[in-house]
Amino acid sequence: TYVISSPCIDVKDRACVDECPVDCIYEGARMLYIHPDECVDCGACEPVCPAEAIFFENDVPDKEASFTRINAEFFDDL
Ligand code: SF4
Repeated sequence: TYVISSPCIDVKDRACVDECPVDCIYEGARMLYIHPDECVDCGACEPVCPAEAIFFENDVPDKEASFTRINAEFFDDL
């Protein structure tokens, strides 16, 4: 899955939402989140993010590592 990380917070540009072919990017109060079970790993969202907040799960920088869990847990609460 792809993961949205901290640069999205209070930005929510939404360019990624327009690119996602399976509509698996959802809006929260302060950032966007990718549903880990719905993402098909197409990679279309990553290059269009102006904040460079999106990473493939294996490429998430260490300082953003908690966001893999944060994306998944957003959907636990729905
Ligand atoms: Fe959507 Fe593709 Fe990005 Fe996954 S990698 S969130 S399917 S655009």
